[in-house]
Amino acid sequence: MGRRNSRGSRTPIPSVCEVFVKNPEINIRGLTRRFAQSTAVDHIDLTVSEGDIFGLLGANGAGKTTVIKMLTTLLGPSAGTATVAGFDIVSQAHEVRRRIGYVPQMLSADGALTGYENLLLSARLYGVAEKRSRIEEALAFMGLGEYAGRLVKTYSGGMVRRLEIAQSMLHRPAVLFLDEPTIGLDPVARRAVWVHLKELNKDYHITILLTTHDMEEADNLCNDVAVMHTGQIAAHGSPEALKARVGHHATLEDVFAHFSGELEETGRLRDTAETRSSARHRG
Ligand code: ATP
Repeated sequence: MGRRNSRGSRTPIPSVCEVFVKNPEINIRGLTRRFAQSTAVDHIDLTVSEGDIFGLLGANGAGKTTVIKMLTTLLGPSAGTATVAGFDIVSQAHEVRRRIGYVPQMLSADGALTGYENLLLSARLYGVAEKRSRIEEALAFMGLGEYAGRLVKTYSGGMVRRLEIAQSMLHRPAVLFLDEPTIGLDPVARRAVWVHLKELNKDYHITILLTTHDMEEADNLCNDVAVMHTGQIAAHGSPEALKARVGHHATLEDVFAHFSGELEETGRLRDTAETRSSARHRG
C-alpha cells in the first residue's frame, strides 16, 4: 500500500492509529525521588502528549512539585527515566532546558525592575537573538504592552503572573511547566491567566503541564489530568473520563477527593457525589 510522491516512488499511507495518536512530549518511566525521610515520588509512569494542557493534581505533599522539579532538571531523580521534548532529563539536561519554560510557585519577577527589563533579563538568559521584537510580542500577547515601562512592584498579582508567563515564552519553548499558576489571584485575574494559557497552547503550539489545587481551573483548562497520592499516580485520564469513573454526575472535586485519599470507602464517595449532584439538579 502506498501513495506516489513527486519523485514517483511510493510513500506509506499512515494507518488510522498513526493519524490520531499524538506524539509523547513528556514520557516518564519509573520516575522516583527519595529524600532522607521519605519517598516524594514513587515509580511513576506517565505520558503527556504533544499539544496537551495537562493537570497534575493531588493533596499537599503528594509529590507534584517534585515531579516538576525533576522534569525541569532542577532535581535529579533517584531512579527511573523521563524525556521532555524527546530529550533525557539527566543525560541531555542542557537540551531539555533549551526547550522548556518554567513558572515556579513563588513569584519570581524582580519588583525593582520594569516589566520590559525583566523580559530583557530572561531574553539574555535564554539566548534569544531578536530580543526587542520577541519582548514586544510577548508583552502584547499577555496584555501588558502599556505597562512595560512600569516597575513590577506596582503591578497587581495577576499582572506579575502574566509577566512571568511572558518571560517563560520568549524562547518559544516546546513545553511550559507552571506550578500553581493562579494561586492567590482574584477570580478576574485567574480567568485572564486561563485565557492566555489557552491561547499560548493553541497559537504557539506549546504543550503545558501545570499543577493546581483549583478543580475549576483543571476542569476549564486541562484536556488530561493525573491525580497523585503519596508519590504515586492514583488516576489518569480526561476530566470527563475520571468523573465517569467516580460516579454519575461526579465533579472534578469528587474525583480529587476520591483519588487523593480524602474518603476511604469507594462506595461512600459514589453516594456523596450522587447526593451532591442531585441537590444541584434540584436547585
Ligand atoms: P503542595 O501541593 O503542597 O505544593 P506537592 O504535591 O507539590 O505539595 P512536594 O512539594 O513535591 O508536594 O513534596 C512531596 C513530599 O516530599 C513532601 O512530603 C515534602 O515534604 C517532601 N519534600 C519535598 N522537597 C523536599 C526536600 N528538599 N527535602 C526533603 N523532603 C522534601
